[in-house]
Amino acid sequence: MNSTDSPLVVYSRESEILDYFGKCEACGYPARATATTEMLAGGGVRTAVVAACSLPCGWTGRVPLTTMTGRVRR
Ligand SMILES: [Zn+2]
Repeated sequence: MNSTDSPLVVYSRESEILDYFGKCEACGYPARATATTEMLAGGGVRTAVVAACSLPCGWTGRVPLTTMTGRVRR
């Protein structure tokens, strides 16, 4: 087993973000994004958003969660 600094993930779920409106950082075309929600041992939850270009330019990247509905609560 690899040992990393990451906490143990007990559950993870991927879902496509339908109202994502970010752009590909390589070619500027609208990108698609998928959110991965991970529940961690100990009770934490974290969400990672990975965007991928809709064109086959191959770009993918981690992005901040940015949607039209903007359910941002801090
Ligand atoms: Zn692209």
